[in-house]
Amino acid sequence: MLIVGGGVSGLSAAWKLANSAVDDFLVLEMESEAGGNSRAGQSPLVAYPWGAHYLPLPGPEAVHVRELLAELGVLQGEPAAQKPSYDERYLCATPQERIYRNGLWDEGLLPQRGIDIAERAEQKRFHARMDELKRARGRDGRRLFAIPMALSSRDPEWLALDRISFAQWLTDNGFTAPTVRWLANYACRDDYGTASDQVSAWAGLHYFACRNGEAANASSDTVLTAPEGNAWLARGLAKKAGERVVTGALVGRIEEGKSSVAVDVLFGEKTVRIEARQLIWAAPAFVLPRVWPAIPGELKAAALAGDYAPWLTANLHLADLPEERHGAPAAWDNVFYDSPGLGYVSATHQLIRRRLSGTVLTYYRALHDVASAEGRRLLMETPREAWAEGILAELERVHPDIRKLTTRLDVFRNGHAMRRPVPGSLFHGQREKMANFESPRIALAHADLSGFSLFEEAQYRGVLAAQRLLARLRTSG
Ligand SMILES: Cc1cc2nc3c(=O)[nH]c(=O)nc-3n(C[C@H](O)[C@H](O)[C@H](O)COP(=O)(O)OP(=O)(O)OC[C@H]3O[C@@H](n4cnc5c(N)ncnc54)[C@H](O)[C@@H]3O)c2cc1C
Repeated sequence: MLIVGGGVSGLSAAWKLANSAVDDFLVLEMESEAGGNSRAGQSPLVAYPWGAHYLPLPGPEAVHVRELLAELGVLQGEPAAQKPSYDERYLCATPQERIYRNGLWDEGLLPQRGIDIAERAEQKRFHARMDELKRARGRDGRRLFAIPMALSSRDPEWLALDRISFAQWLTDNGFTAPTVRWLANYACRDDYGTASDQVSAWAGLHYFACRNGEAANASSDTVLTAPEGNAWLARGLAKKAGERVVTGALVGRIEEGKSSVAVDVLFGEKTVRIEARQLIWAAPAFVLPRVWPAIPGELKAAALAGDYAPWLTANLHLADLPEERHGAPAAWDNVFYDSPGLGYVSATHQLIRRRLSGTVLTYYRALHDVASAEGRRLLMETPREAWAEGILAELERVHPDIRKLTTRLDVFRNGHAMRRPVPGSLFHGQREKMANFESPRIALAHADLSGFSLFEEAQYRGVLAAQRLLARLRTSG
């Protein structure tokens, strides 16, 4: 059996197979390292993320996430407990986040300084409405917004929200205060690489209303993180597959036959053909029509229908902790209110007990303000030096000595980073065709099947594909 793609979804499929005592599989990953968007870098000082960097506390529906965390010893005790305890090294140390606005750092994500009573009241009303939606159920008895998203209610009244944008929903519901609109837009840029007027209202509400995890030893909004971002989760998944994860293996062609799938794999300059009984495609959906000439027409249309957000990330290696402006102290996630970038996370924030001679800051920017093809062109054509200069200028506003302290600045251009949950794409378009696709020898995984990219979604799609494959193996003897 072959799994194509060694991101979280492919590694989750491998994890599920290995945990079900199946070991005749290989994971083929084209890069020199597995992990996909959850990969990390390593400096002499500390590891740091290149993409995904946190996991919210998993709620009761996220059973596979909880199972993995228990296996890794991070969730302690009974995985199904309402409020499990978590290893404190992975619970984000306080302060978790702060926001820079009008020349000052403020605690948390929602600005509080210089806000009038009416705006404060609207902030409160927004949070109260999201709390209501967290608990609300559709006519089928399911939670309106669950994670994994496939477990959410199918009540048509709520699925209809997929047809309008999140910005429209905010307007329709009387949310007009600048800071509330900003928070909603920030959430969409952060999780979907897309502005709130381009995001399905269902997806926007899902961000705020799906998470219901709790912990015995932390507040419910605490996230799980590590210096290397989510690479610890990817590595935890990969451990079970061991040497069956093969890197530097680019799948260039697949052909489904009656009794096997023929797969052409490029190792360096050499192409090797592998015949497999079953194949799980855990690479991005848009690549599939390029490698599978005989792909069924409906699936091809669905795979190509998606719009992908381009992202820029950068890692800045600093010789010392940077100078601070006024306001709230340094946090793990340091967010900018009014800037092209979202802000940065600090790789050394979790290492509170160690005295370190520097740090690594990971800067994030989704190119949400241009069409995605234009964003990709900008990513490609803008020289590294121009990106670096722009990032330093942005960070200089909050840390005046950043240029002096930066010893190295690496930029990562990710052209097709994640599928965008644009209006209509989740429940009124092509996504469900991919999620429900069945063929005798090929199963699909990848977060693209959920329509947006999160650890929980990628893991769920990988596990589901492995379960489908296991069921086929059982029936075929
Ligand atoms: C900047 C950024 C920040 C993020 N932050 C978070 C976060 O904090 N928390 C969170 O939960 N999620 C975050 N995400 C979402 C992240 O994408 C998911 O958590 C998850 O890592 C996606 O896994 P995946 O397997 O679905 O996809 P991918 O990570 O896209 O994995 C697909 C893999 O397939 C490989 N591949 C592609 N084509 C081929 C081929 N032809 N042959 C062989 N291999 C191939 C790729 O190299 C890749 O390794 C972030 C994403 C980005 C881009």
